[in-house]
Amino acid sequence: MAEMNNNAVKAGPGEPLLKVEDLEVVYTSRQEVVQAVNHINFEVRRGETLGIVGETGAGKTTTAYSIMRILPDRTAKILNGKIIYEGEDLLTLPENVMRNTIRGEKIAIIFQDPMSALNPIMRIGDQIAEALKYHNKEDLTPEQISEKVDQTLELVGIQKGRRYDYPHQLSGGMKQRVVIAIALVCEPELIIADEPTTALDVTIQAQVLAMIDELRETLGTALILITHDLGIVAQMCDNVAIMYAGEIIENGTVEDIYSGKMQHPYTTGLFGSLPDLEKKTDRLSPIDGLMPDPTDLPKGCKFNPRCPRCMDICREQTPPEIVDGTHRVACHLYAGMGQAAKAAEQVKEEA
Ligand code: SF4
Repeated sequence: MAEMNNNAVKAGPGEPLLKVEDLEVVYTSRQEVVQAVNHINFEVRRGETLGIVGETGAGKTTTAYSIMRILPDRTAKILNGKIIYEGEDLLTLPENVMRNTIRGEKIAIIFQDPMSALNPIMRIGDQIAEALKYHNKEDLTPEQISEKVDQTLELVGIQKGRRYDYPHQLSGGMKQRVVIAIALVCEPELIIADEPTTALDVTIQAQVLAMIDELRETLGTALILITHDLGIVAQMCDNVAIMYAGEIIENGTVEDIYSGKMQHPYTTGLFGSLPDLEKKTDRLSPIDGLMPDPTDLPKGCKFNPRCPRCMDICREQTPPEIVDGTHRVACHLYAGMGQAAKAAEQVKEEA
């Protein structure tokens, strides 16, 4: 499950597939430093789905690009942290090792916009085959590659005869299916889906998501699903990490987050802005205010200027991380609660 702890890791049986530790990423532009990701920690186990949820600008995509090591060279800088994949820190690997053995082969990414992810002047079958040829670890013959392209197209619900089509001959949903086919063809252990349905019509969003979920289950692939939609998370994820202003402010199992117990006020705000089909309301309740300027983050809790429950301490001190079983929340409201408080009470009772 997703964790916010900061202990060093060693590879070994039962270790998570991916462990992100104390990751800090900044973008620099002229005189400004944008604090995009601020010391986040989480992990993903084999076959598990982690939903990373938050508004635009929360640092979700920067986190994904850091894992893939595809951040823009000139402006982005990973200042701190480790990204441990199968016991190895991806941040220490040479670029050619990333390109040849990790990116596309072990970890694949599905981008938001299928149109910019596909080559407009290349037939879709060739684009799928290209990924396979590049990572041809099984020494497949050209015929076997061709057969695998057909199989992968059918797996994502596209007739194999369409392999000769160019991207512009396909609908938005079909293009995204091709992007998913490219991600799947090398049978990666982990897929990062970065808002995979944002660019699609509402009518086909559900189809594409259902397909990703089905494929993930059939192939046993772990999935990091980046989204701002809590409804999608409830349907597809085992664990959830809520991001705000570059930090993970709450995480846990889906049950932890949806139970409403020890809920971070930002998470409460996200739930409040969802339409409730059982209640007749004239207006939704959005979270007041805007995400803070990432070049000038507020002191104390980063959510304090928008928080309806803000206290004096919130403007001064970084909130403590309260842990209760699999549930972690960073908020002053719950200071003195959680596992540590329970353990202290038990010690007192026993004394
Ligand atoms: Fe609100 Fe304070 Fe909790 Fe931040 S720490 S979410 S400001 S109550």
